[in-house]
Amino acid sequence: MTFHPPSWVPQLPFDPPDSISISDFMLEEHYGRHPLGYSHNPFTCGVTGRTYSSLEVRERVDYLARGLAKELGFHPNKGSEWDKVIAVFSVNTLDTVPLAWATHRLGGIQTPANAAYSAAELEYQLKNSGAKALFTCVPLLATAREAAKKCNIPDNRIYILEVPEQLTGGKGTPNGMKTVDDFIREGKKLDRLEPLKWESGHGAKRTAFLCYSSGTSGLPKGVKISHRNVIANTMQIATFEKPYRDKMINDLRNQSDYTESVLGLLPMSHIYGLVVICHASVFRGDGVIVLPKFDFAATLQAIQDYKINSLFLVPPIIILFTKNAKVLAKYDLSSVWSLFTGAAPLGKETADDVQKIFPSWKIRQGYGLTETCTVVCSSAPDDIWFGSSGSLLPGIECKIVTPEGADITGYDQPGELLVKSPAVVLGYLNNEKANEETFQGGYMRTGDEAVIRKAPSGNEHVFIVDRIKELIKVQGHQVAPAELEAHLLTHPAVNDCAVIQIPNEKTGEVPKAFVVKSPSIGLEENDRVIAREIQKHVEQHKARYKWISGGIEFVDEIPKSPAGKILRRLLRDKEKEKRRQA
Ligand code: AMP
Repeated sequence: MTFHPPSWVPQLPFDPPDSISISDFMLEEHYGRHPLGYSHNPFTCGVTGRTYSSLEVRERVDYLARGLAKELGFHPNKGSEWDKVIAVFSVNTLDTVPLAWATHRLGGIQTPANAAYSAAELEYQLKNSGAKALFTCVPLLATAREAAKKCNIPDNRIYILEVPEQLTGGKGTPNGMKTVDDFIREGKKLDRLEPLKWESGHGAKRTAFLCYSSGTSGLPKGVKISHRNVIANTMQIATFEKPYRDKMINDLRNQSDYTESVLGLLPMSHIYGLVVICHASVFRGDGVIVLPKFDFAATLQAIQDYKINSLFLVPPIIILFTKNAKVLAKYDLSSVWSLFTGAAPLGKETADDVQKIFPSWKIRQGYGLTETCTVVCSSAPDDIWFGSSGSLLPGIECKIVTPEGADITGYDQPGELLVKSPAVVLGYLNNEKANEETFQGGYMRTGDEAVIRKAPSGNEHVFIVDRIKELIKVQGHQVAPAELEAHLLTHPAVNDCAVIQIPNEKTGEVPKAFVVKSPSIGLEENDRVIAREIQKHVEQHKARYKWISGGIEFVDEIPKSPAGKILRRLLRDKEKEKRRQA
């Protein structure tokens, strides 16, 4: 049995354009964007107030593309996109997405890296993606340089994205390093670029973003996201939201030029921030208030100052709303009508608690993955059911299957969720094995366990009830057990190990490691000291959210299948049992 979107959203076929680039889609007016011309401001800095109008964004993208073409020798219609990969390692900035569109204007790829990465983690992505140049920001410059040096990216191929002075501690851009504004100044003096000469199908085949995800198992992999994937999910979100948006325009505000101010706090290096906030919202004519990093008070201040209407958050931040009533009371948050959550499960209890504090807010949940170019399903504003991730977006079909692969045909029966959508990505870069395991018969295997339930509204709702795959989610960030296990094994005290997730009130989940000590470790050595040494080994090389905050437990052996596969499920079940008894 396949499940479909509710009847009020357009049914299949859903056919997003496949011959245009994302930059053409976003910057031209042809695809049903909110009819505002160029009067709205897509990006505003929530710290300094610096803002770009649509017209300015369009011009900046054009000049930036000209400047990049000259500097890097890129040509819109020459060379493969894989010769034109630009990495970004930065906190959120006003120029991050315009830079992506300038790269797309040249037929290139942006590969965004998590700003929390260590030099070694960034090095992995730079090498794996074959990046030719790197944009970073002053606070992350030292890490960026250290990584670039090991990947043959010379210093003169590292460029600067500007961030508010508050973040740089007064440190300016080092002499001789080019900023986005330098490129734009130069680009103004250069000749106009040839338009992209794409034929039908080009946009569906060409990679636009290379994001990193570990998928259902193993190390982080480059996920090839095509131009059409981003265009498709942008249109799916906009179409799904349209009935309510129309209602807002007609009933609530009675303004034909109604647009929203949305919170741009989540990292633009993750698919949620990148597509849902910076593409779908901008496409609808909304303005993104860009915040470079998370600070609870600064976020509330920005909501008040910029009269933000829609909050896009992850559960660990939402939990702060329920625990800081005194702080909340200092700010006027009356502009907000929608709180949207995703990237990890939001418990029904948390949603209830927020609703008690803000009875008028629509608390909505979406579910998606990097591999589905974000949203698969979402709560519609007038069909909210706490705990559910809502209904399927237009053009999406899903199936629920048993571990043996048989279709589940009824409601309320758990199984793995499989998704078919024009936004399902092209696949993993240079990893046929993972591609075969993940993309089967037109469906993407999510590795998540779901049930479908019928809501009182009559619509089918998706509930994500568990995660089958080997993935830990800390504050919405991905942590791959295989990556931590490989790293732990490089410590001399570790003979064998396994990493699983355990629940954590603040971050959702945290990694916990089971370690078999090396025979070389003497009996007299204290477990606490060895555990601390191992923890330090992780802290020195891995981003903070990957640290083993769930602790290290020493065991005699790691449970494995006859084929040598770690039986993490067994460890997780034992851990759950321990917690139940505690
Ligand atoms: P990412 O590719 O980093 O976005 O991670 C995707 C994974 O995050 C999914 O496969 C789920 O395991 C988890 N996830 C995303 N949204 C939700 C949600 N609403 N409820 C439960 N898990 C979610």
